[in-house]
Amino acid sequence: MAGGGKVQAPRGTFDVLPDDGRRRARLRSLCEELFAQAGYGFIDTPIFEATELFARGVGETTDIVQKEMFTFEDQGGRSLTLRPEGTAGVCRAYLEHGMHKQPQPVKLWYWGPFFRHEAPQAGRYRQFNQVGIEAIGSDDPSLDAEVILLLYGLLESVGTKGVRLRLGSLGTPETRRAYSDELREYLRAREDQLSDEVRGRLDANPLRAFDSDHPGTQAVVKDAPKLLERLTQDDAAHFAEVRALLDDAGREYEVDAALVRGIDYYTRTVFEFTSDALGAQSGVGGGGRYDGLIEMLGGPQTPGVGFAAGIERILLVSEIEGEAPATDVYVVRDGGGATSASKVLAALREAGFNAQMEQAGRSVKGQFKQADRLGARAVVVVAQDRLSVRDMGSGDQRDVPDFAEALKVLEEVLA
Ligand code: AMP
Repeated sequence: MAGGGKVQAPRGTFDVLPDDGRRRARLRSLCEELFAQAGYGFIDTPIFEATELFARGVGETTDIVQKEMFTFEDQGGRSLTLRPEGTAGVCRAYLEHGMHKQPQPVKLWYWGPFFRHEAPQAGRYRQFNQVGIEAIGSDDPSLDAEVILLLYGLLESVGTKGVRLRLGSLGTPETRRAYSDELREYLRAREDQLSDEVRGRLDANPLRAFDSDHPGTQAVVKDAPKLLERLTQDDAAHFAEVRALLDDAGREYEVDAALVRGIDYYTRTVFEFTSDALGAQSGVGGGGRYDGLIEMLGGPQTPGVGFAAGIERILLVSEIEGEAPATDVYVVRDGGGATSASKVLAALREAGFNAQMEQAGRSVKGQFKQADRLGARAVVVVAQDRLSVRDMGSGDQRDVPDFAEALKVLEEVLA
């Protein structure tokens, strides 16, 4: 179709412009440093996966799978989905590449775009980015603590304000099933006070009542029996050890019996970091243990634990600064074609300078203005029969016989 108004980006998406891009690059290199130090290797999995991966892994009854996935059919009639979260894909890759045969645990980190069809608002988008880590192949509580402490450390190192950590445990699937039955009965007896949504999900997933912001539902769940009170001895001991390790590390947290994250694969530890500096969308990152997930994907029983944090939300509440590369030298073209100026430019870059040249047809005066705007500390003027170097600080300009001499003068000026 021809004509019409300006084409715009889809709702709930955003463009990353260079200032923002520099902050992201800085955040990413901090992540890389932090995670490499703890032995996590980088992994990148496809942005689209078989829909079945999320239906099985995330859970058929979750908001994500029921309402939020961008799902489409490819030309071969296969159902594909733009990944709404990272753990299922990483576990699929772990299995597909036989990483269960490597020494365990396998520690991985990722960074990239994710997609959820949610109502857009500040801090909530339909395409957003997450950074996450997964430690797969061991159920040692020190890994739960490590994952939590790494996210704590990351948020601290980027100066995130007003951070709170909530911690809970969901026990094993068997415990959860028994508890779900108990909770369902409790909620059913008070059905008239629940929201339509929670009532509609009572059969499939009564735990979701804890996530509801419906006042009637909240009042009912406040006095409901809690999963934390029903943990087996093993699970309770595991949870106690995770807490002890966080205590040893001097990190504060609140145990929250109502913390049920909206994904089915979690077992035992779950946690969420929030920031008061964010508005309604206060979640900065969260995660937990998923000891049954790899089995759900068709693999051997393999424990794992990880976190995912929203990059946009971290940037909203952190003081992280990007580093803008300064322009050292600007090449002014005073008559003549682009050839010799381009050669000078290439040689300057080769010599290690951040260099730019005139590429928009300005007058010589306009070119000096542009050099100023870019903050260039020196200018090389390339004229038809002459080469000169100007110190933009002092205004001194010197003719030089050749490029080698120009370099010498530049070294002095930029020293
Ligand atoms: P979740 O897997 O839902 O716990 O998401 C982990 C983190 O990703 C959240 O704490 C947010 O920081 C971020 N996040 C999740 N959904 C969105 C979204 N729609 N837009 C922006 N960030 C999001």
